[in-house]
Amino acid sequence: MSLTKEDVLQKAEELDVKFVRLQFTDILGVIKNVAITVDQLEEALDGEIMFDGSSIDGFTRIQESDMKLKPDYDTFTIFPWRPEEDGTVARLICDVYMPDGTPFEGGPRNVLQNALDEAAEMGYEMYLGPEPEFFLFEKDEEGEPTTITHDNGGYFDLGPIDEGQDARRDMVIALEKMGFDMEASHHEVAPGQHEIDFKYEDALKTADNIATFRFVVKSIANQHDLHATFMPKPIFGENGSGMHMNQSLFKDGENAFYDESDELGLSQTAKYYIGGLLEHANAIAAVTNPTVNSYKRLVPGYEAPVYKAWSASNRSALIRIPAARGAGTRVEMRNPDPAANPYLATAVMLKAGLDGIKNEIEPPAEVVDNIFAMSAQEKEEAGIESLPGNLHEAVNELLSDELIQKALGDHVLEHFVEAKRLEWDVYRTQVHDWELDQYLKTF
Ligand code: GLU
Ligand code: MG
Ligand code: MG
Repeated sequence: MSLTKEDVLQKAEELDVKFVRLQFTDILGVIKNVAITVDQLEEALDGEIMFDGSSIDGFTRIQESDMKLKPDYDTFTIFPWRPEEDGTVARLICDVYMPDGTPFEGGPRNVLQNALDEAAEMGYEMYLGPEPEFFLFEKDEEGEPTTITHDNGGYFDLGPIDEGQDARRDMVIALEKMGFDMEASHHEVAPGQHEIDFKYEDALKTADNIATFRFVVKSIANQHDLHATFMPKPIFGENGSGMHMNQSLFKDGENAFYDESDELGLSQTAKYYIGGLLEHANAIAAVTNPTVNSYKRLVPGYEAPVYKAWSASNRSALIRIPAARGAGTRVEMRNPDPAANPYLATAVMLKAGLDGIKNEIEPPAEVVDNIFAMSAQEKEEAGIESLPGNLHEAVNELLSDELIQKALGDHVLEHFVEAKRLEWDVYRTQVHDWELDQYLKTF
């Protein structure tokens, strides 16, 4: 599908669009918009709408604050849950450009595009299928989110126990109306936890879809008077929310990860890709698990990965190879969480995988045992190491991995590291409730 400017203008007229939101994400992956009326749509489609980039976190210095938004025409869609009486609201996802017309290197979508361009030079196209999980919580009388859920649902449970189920159904309907190709949606393991999967697409489209998805899920939850959160670990003692990323490379229309003659059905390309992901996994974590809270999910006992290993047979490893072969052959990276910026997370994983292919990085042997059941000594003998234990460690790993730094580019790297160091510093100097419980009476 490739829409032209005329197609978009015509659609906007047919759908009685009154307002258009020009969307992009900041470095942290939060959607920003510039709202225009339909009268300015043509100008917007020509990439002539300017905005003040200095007001966006991590974007630019005051003196170069006028940035341009160039919409990707194919991303035109309406928000189906908005009241239509006042005219329909549509959105376009945009790339950010400098006033002189060059792509802005601090725009996350541009960062992903650079990685995809490199893949294309090697003859590859990346496909990506995400599995985002989230919680639905009650709000209090003031409308503030709590961590209370009133459901007792468990994995794949069917109603009527689950009041979040209605909300989830409305989310699926809205996403379908926006052109998403839906796969499964189900209750997850923890109380109030849900997962909605949509079909894999080319990586840029999927990253756009993830950004849109989070926004739709939050909007619809709100209509049900619930709060949706993509915070990775909202409740101690329960599973956290992951966003497994299923990735594959296609070459000349064929899945380059599949090799029928291999024992596991995996090509050498797939193995090198896995080798690259494992080689750079520590630095990748800073981007795929970008919050202090992310690392509270990555602990043993909650179906989240802790150890750097790969496996075609069990879910305890960081990288799993789901059973599908042929065109569906893919590598599932299990540590990313839904707080990650989908563009940056995808860019760093792809660059790591491509590095594996270029430098023929052989992955270690596949782990067939459940790693969580292995002793420390067994893990050491098998050469299985842990992911970074917290955000501080992960950011330091990023700063010692040149490839992943280059994948982000100087601008994003600088602002990302600055923001994450500050986040860590504020966190580490707080006095948490746990400490008061632990020490106030004891000492
Ligand atoms: N919620 C788990 C996680 O934190 C994943 C559960 C699953 O395998 O879907 O990654
Ligand atoms: Mg899941
Ligand atoms: Mg999965």
